[in-house]
Amino acid sequence: MNPIRAFSFILSALCSTVPVFAFPAPQQDIIDIQLRWHHQFQFAGYYAAVEKGFYREEGLEVRLHPGDPAHQPVQEVLSGRAQYAEGNSEVLFQRLRGEPLVALAAIFQHSPSILLVRKDSGIDSVHDLAGKKVMLMNRTEDADFLTMFVNEGIPLSQIDIIPSSYRIDDLITRKADAFNAYSSNEPFFLKQRGIPYNVIAPGNYRVDFYSDIFFTSEKELRSRPERVEKMLRTTLKGWRYAMDHPDEIIDLLIRRYPVDKTRAHLEFEAAEMRKLIFPDLIEIGHMNPERWQHMADAFVKAGLVRSDDFLDGFIYSARSPKHLPAWVVPVLAFALAVIALILAAAYYLMQLNRRLASAQHQLHEVNRALSEEIDERKTIEANLRISETRYRSLFGNMVEGFAFCRMLYRNGQPDDIQYIEVNPAFETLTGLSAVTGKKITEVVPGIKASNPEVFEIYGRVAAGGPPEKFEIFMSPLNLWFSVSAYHADTDTHCFVTVIENITERKLLQRNYEQMAQTDYLTGLSNRRHFMQQAETELARTLRYGSALALLMLDLDHFKQINDNHGHRAGDKVLQAFSTLCLSILRESDLIGRLGGEEFVIMLPETCVAEAIGVAERLRKITEEVFVLLENGQALYFTVSIGIAGLDERYAHLDTLLQKADQSLYTAKSMGRNRIHTEASCIRAACR
Ligand code: GH3
Ligand code: MG
Ligand code: MG
Repeated sequence: MNPIRAFSFILSALCSTVPVFAFPAPQQDIIDIQLRWHHQFQFAGYYAAVEKGFYREEGLEVRLHPGDPAHQPVQEVLSGRAQYAEGNSEVLFQRLRGEPLVALAAIFQHSPSILLVRKDSGIDSVHDLAGKKVMLMNRTEDADFLTMFVNEGIPLSQIDIIPSSYRIDDLITRKADAFNAYSSNEPFFLKQRGIPYNVIAPGNYRVDFYSDIFFTSEKELRSRPERVEKMLRTTLKGWRYAMDHPDEIIDLLIRRYPVDKTRAHLEFEAAEMRKLIFPDLIEIGHMNPERWQHMADAFVKAGLVRSDDFLDGFIYSARSPKHLPAWVVPVLAFALAVIALILAAAYYLMQLNRRLASAQHQLHEVNRALSEEIDERKTIEANLRISETRYRSLFGNMVEGFAFCRMLYRNGQPDDIQYIEVNPAFETLTGLSAVTGKKITEVVPGIKASNPEVFEIYGRVAAGGPPEKFEIFMSPLNLWFSVSAYHADTDTHCFVTVIENITERKLLQRNYEQMAQTDYLTGLSNRRHFMQQAETELARTLRYGSALALLMLDLDHFKQINDNHGHRAGDKVLQAFSTLCLSILRESDLIGRLGGEEFVIMLPETCVAEAIGVAERLRKITEEVFVLLENGQALYFTVSIGIAGLDERYAHLDTLLQKADQSLYTAKSMGRNRIHTEASCIRAACR
C-alpha cells in the first residue's frame, strides 16, 4: 500500500476507535431474564439484584419473566426473547446437541430434583420403580433421573413413565407412584398434610448435577461481553444478598410478586435451598469444569447425546480472552492503530530515506562524473596549453622557417600566395621582413618569372595533394632553400611550408664538385671530368652532324726541365702552359690535363684544318713565352701536338683520342716542337 494511503487509513481507524474508548455510552437496553418457573424463593437472587438496584447501578435495566410450560428458559434464550435465563441440566443437554448456550453460574451446587414416593407404596430405592408409574417432565429436563436409571442398570422400558402433571395431588391420590419434584418445594405440601414419603434422590445414585444454572447465549457473549460480565457479577451479588437476607426477600416476594406460596412454604424453600447452594462454604455460582465434564459423560452414557464435542466454550470464564473487559478492545485497537501508525510512519520514513539515499547516491555519481569530466577537461586544457606552449616554443624557436599560407587563384589557376603567419626563422632565413598578410609577389618581386614552379607545387598541395619536398634556388633572393609543403585546409586552400636555407651547403657542394673535376695544379679539368665533358660534346656533335677536332699535347723534354731546374720550376711551366692554352681557346672549347705534362683539347664545330691552325698558333706562342725562374733566369719550353678530326671512322672518343695520340707520337718522333695529323685527316675538307 502506498505509505500515504496507509497513513490515512490508520488515522481514520484511529478516529473511529478513540471515541468508543474515551466516552463509553451508558447502556440502558432492556434485559430479559427468563426464570424457570413461577415466582418463588428459588429465584431469590434475581429479585434481590433487581430490588436492591444492583443491576441499575451498572446501567442494566432488567426484567424478570416467570416460567411456565410455554416459556421454557432454553427456548426463550435461543429465540432471543430473553438474553439470560435460569435453567436446569437441560442447558447442558441442549449445549451438547449443538445449541449455542453458555453457562455463567451454577447457583445450585446440587440438583434439587428428586422423586417423591409415598412411604406406604413400599418403594425404597430406585430399583423398586420397575413397573411403576413414574411421573417425569421429559427426557431433557429430567436428565438426572434418566442418568440415575442408567447408572443403576434399570432399562427405561421397565418403567412406566407418565407426563408430569405438576400436581402433587396425583401422588397423594396414587395416580403416580413416583412424582418428580424439587426438594425445596413439594415435600412441604406432603409434610403439611402429614403424608409420609420417601425421597429417591439422584445424588444418592452417583448423579450429582448442577442445577439452576444462570446462562446466556454465545451471541450475547460475543456481542456484549462486558454486559455478560456485569450481569453475572450483579446477579451473584443479588444471590449473595438473598442468601444473607432470606426473610427480606420473602417479604419482597409476597409484597411485590404474584406468589402462590405461603410464607411458611417460602421459608421451607429458602431453608432447603441453603442445603443445595452452600452459600457459607462455596462461592455462589461456582462451576467446576470437571463436574460439568462428569455431567456431560453421564449424558453420553445415558445415550442422551452422542458426544461431549460441544462442551468446549460452554463454561463461561471471565478470564477467557473472549470475555475481555469492555475497554480492552478499544484500547487494543488504539494501541494497534498507534503501532500501525508508527510502523507506517517508520516505513514511510524508511522509504523516504531509501529514496533520499538513492538520490544522494545518484547525485554523488553525477558529481563524480562531473568532477571526472572537469578533471578530464582540465587535463585536456592543460595539455592544450602545454601543446600550445610547445607549439609556440617550437614555432618561435625552430631553426626552420615556417609559413602558414593561403593560395590565391585567378581564373581557377594558382596566381599568388598570401602569408598568413610566419615564424621569426622564416624572415631570418629569407631576409624578408613584415611579410604577414602580404602576397609573395609583393615581398619577392620577379618570383613568377624566376620560380614559376613554386606556384605549380604549392597549387597541388593547397588543393589537398600529398606533401611535397623540394630544393629551389630563389634567384631574386640569391638563396637556395629546401622546402617541405603540407596541406592544411581544403576549404580555405591553406598550406604550410617549412623552409631551410641550404645556400651554404649548395656552394660547398659546388666547390667539392669543382675540386673533384679540376686539376689542382693548373686549374684545368682533370682527366675524368674532361672525358665526361668530351663524351657529352661528342654526342651533341654527332647528333647535329657538325665538325669536331681533338688535340693531344705533350711538353717536350719536360723531364729535363725538372731535372735541370727543379720540380717547382716544372710546375710553373705546367701552369704557364695552361694559362697559355686558355688564352687562345674559345669559351666552347674543352681542355683537360690528362696527367704529367700531357694535355688534351677538344674543339667543337672545328674541322681538322681549323684545328691545325689553332694547334700551330699554340705551338708558336708556347715557343715564344718563358717562365721566370727564382734565380731570374728565363726558362723556355716547347710543345708537340697530335691532331685528330672527327669522321665516320672515329665516331668514338677512345678512337679519336687514340688517333690524336698517334699523331702526337709522330710529332715527337719527328723532332718535337711541332704539330702533326694523319694525312687522311688533313684531306678531310672543312664543310
Ligand atoms: P719527351 O720530349 O719525349 O716528351 O721527353 P720528356 O722528358 O718530356 O718525357 P718523359 O715522359 O720522359 O718525362 C716526363 C717527365 O715529366 C717525368 C716527370 O718527372 C715529369 N713530370 C710529370 N708530372 C710532373 C709534374 O706535375 N710536375 C713536374 N715538375 N714534373 C712532372
Ligand atoms: Mg710525356
Ligand atoms: Mg714530354
